[in-house]
Amino acid sequence: MSNKQFKAESKRLLDLMINSIYTNKEIFLRELISNASDAIDKLYYRSLTDKKININRKDLKIKVSIDKEARKLIIEDNGLGMTEEELDNNLGTIAKSGSLAFKSENEKKEDINIIGQFGVGFYSAFMVSDLVEVESKSVDSDKAYCWSSKGVDGYEINPCDKETAGTKITLHIKEDSEEEKYSQFLDTYTIQGIIKKYSDYISYPITMDIEHTEKVEGEDKKEEEKTVVKEETINSMIPLWKKDKKKIKEEEYNSFYTEKFYDYEKPLKVIHSSVEGQYKYDTLLYIPSHLPFDYYTKEYEKGLQLYANGVLIMNKCSDLLPDYFGFVKGLVDSDDLSLNISREILQHDRQLRVIAKNIENKIKSELENLLKNDREKYEEFFKNFGVQLKYGTYADYGMNKEKLQDLLLFYSSTEKKLVTLKEYVAKMKEEQTSIYYASGESVDKIDLLPQVEILKDKGYEILYLTENVDEFVFQVLMQYEEKSFKNVCSDNIDLDSKEEKEKLKKKNEDNKEMLESMKELLKGEVQNVRFTHRLKNHPICLTSEGAISLEMEKTLNAMPNNQNVKAQIILEINEKHEIANKLKNLFKEDKESFEKYTKVLYAQARLIEGLSIENPTEISNLICEIFAK
Ligand code: ADP
Repeated sequence: MSNKQFKAESKRLLDLMINSIYTNKEIFLRELISNASDAIDKLYYRSLTDKKININRKDLKIKVSIDKEARKLIIEDNGLGMTEEELDNNLGTIAKSGSLAFKSENEKKEDINIIGQFGVGFYSAFMVSDLVEVESKSVDSDKAYCWSSKGVDGYEINPCDKETAGTKITLHIKEDSEEEKYSQFLDTYTIQGIIKKYSDYISYPITMDIEHTEKVEGEDKKEEEKTVVKEETINSMIPLWKKDKKKIKEEEYNSFYTEKFYDYEKPLKVIHSSVEGQYKYDTLLYIPSHLPFDYYTKEYEKGLQLYANGVLIMNKCSDLLPDYFGFVKGLVDSDDLSLNISREILQHDRQLRVIAKNIENKIKSELENLLKNDREKYEEFFKNFGVQLKYGTYADYGMNKEKLQDLLLFYSSTEKKLVTLKEYVAKMKEEQTSIYYASGESVDKIDLLPQVEILKDKGYEILYLTENVDEFVFQVLMQYEEKSFKNVCSDNIDLDSKEEKEKLKKKNEDNKEMLESMKELLKGEVQNVRFTHRLKNHPICLTSEGAISLEMEKTLNAMPNNQNVKAQIILEINEKHEIANKLKNLFKEDKESFEKYTKVLYAQARLIEGLSIENPTEISNLICEIFAK
């Protein structure tokens, strides 16, 4: 077959590998062994349902061998193997799963991070080899093919001879240079060490031929030393999650995570536990330190890997995680699960449901601990996944609200940082009966809302809601520790004394005619127009009556199934502001101007709320007319 070119992205990565100055080149072996192990997993997994595949788990293994003279290091597995087409697709292009989140390819420092933290996969072989050959025979084919490449110039695929299914990778190790002693990768002892260091937990034997000297009886009955070669298993095969927690280094947890769950950054938190209750199982869970790049796409599947006694039986068991913890990665290993269990049965499995419930509680309590003991880290977590918790609170008619409400954070006007509802309530003023909140696009914008000013002035703490889902969350919560939630922009906010209320009532009655006339001019737009005490320096604001606030109107109408929901709007005028008198005068003396002022004021109030105005040209003209007068 003629020479083929790598896909652009692969070429970039390849180039990076070949010219790598990365000091930890030895990780190439971890990557190749991990691929081999995956391929065996896949084969074993298929054999559970595919009668045509006949294997004995005992025979599955990865063999590493060295040919020092020929400078070859060989990694061989009896896994699923690859067809000609798969060789082309998988090794000619970067696998989708390992999507490269290259930040800045130009910076060498970044490169090192990528190599160190992210399972860069197959191409890392080029860090140490000047020629790589991959002979493979798929279980689905009776032909074998060899993929070979010297690097960026491309690759070839040719038919070859291979008896059994699986993959054999031959690395032609580079000659030593001044900076790098590549020959170390041809040393049995070194390779053994690398396998132990990175791949000890791999659940299949990784074997090597090890030379031993044995004393044997020679022909002349004299004892003599003889070198014998024995195939030995190098790894302990104890999976990481079955090891003693105290003996696992953070680095081990992290590299297991980056490699297994395709992340390039180490996790924010590791949760490792062994449960010995009604059912016996181990879990190893990870909270990622950032949103997975595909989190909000259809491709993202939540779920945990499910193992039965160390053997992978399902890759993404979604029943093990509630949606609101869908960002958690990890695995569950139970000794009591049957290997041949089908997916449908799993869904109804009582044991699995109990495990899922426990996992949920575990994640929740770990998050609570984090919130309590490491606020900074929790906030980092919340920045990424807080929205998920909010949706979880709101979803299913608030079925899980009690579970999640104490994990939520909102921005506080007085603390100038994120606070919990518990913290808010603990600081409430004695006479205060409600939790005040205001919503808007950003903290800065909310802070400038006219309605916010007077509450701040009176020393009340206000929660600033900047996410679409926030107000819906409060609606579903209804109360927190018997305190209701009150939007500072709603009509039922009540800060006045009895006396003040009376005074305002009278003001509104005295000017009834004028206010009615304004309402008439804004017909279809507002429910009511009235004087208010809720403003301090600002002349006007909008408030809403009923369940739908102005922010909610915006959110609901931005949805695809927009039903043109409308908040019931009230235009409020600051009775102490000069504009109040101006309006009164105009109403008496200049009806034409009164009309213009009303329209402009209403348009201004909408703009302050971040609502659009229907007729900007008209408003602009009106303003100019007023100016020109
Ligand atoms: P990743 O492992 O992140 O998917 P790699 O570049 O390491 O990316 O490997 C690309 C693909 O090549 C794998 O997803 C797998 O499908 C295939 N592959 C690699 N090594 C083997 C192997 N030993 N046996 C079978 N398939 C393999």
